[in-house]
Amino acid sequence: MEGLPELLKAKRREVVEEMAGLTAPPDDAGGISFGKRVGDGTSIAVERITQVAAHDRFQALLSEIDRAEQKLADGSYGSCDNCGEQIPAGRLEARPWSSHCVSCAVTAR
Ligand SMILES: [Zn+2]
Repeated sequence: MEGLPELLKAKRREVVEEMAGLTAPPDDAGGISFGKRVGDGTSIAVERITQVAAHDRFQALLSEIDRAEQKLADGSYGSCDNCGEQIPAGRLEARPWSSHCVSCAVTAR
């Protein structure tokens, strides 16, 4: 578990930065109707939806990181929040903030 708190902190910082980038208002949002092609408005709308979806995903990731830090603190890190089984090391390596095993993560959403 060495370096894990640092790893989680680094990941959190990364996610927070990504979210900050997402919420910055697009520069060209104001001038859609002035001499631009119809398609431009559509692609901006699609981009917005994508941003909202990405924002939700980052938010979920942040709460997972929160949970992982809690689990580190209370000593339950590495076991599934739902079934109590050990989370496979490979999964923890890929997603150190996992607080559910693979099968519970699938059913939880
Ligand atoms: Zn589980």
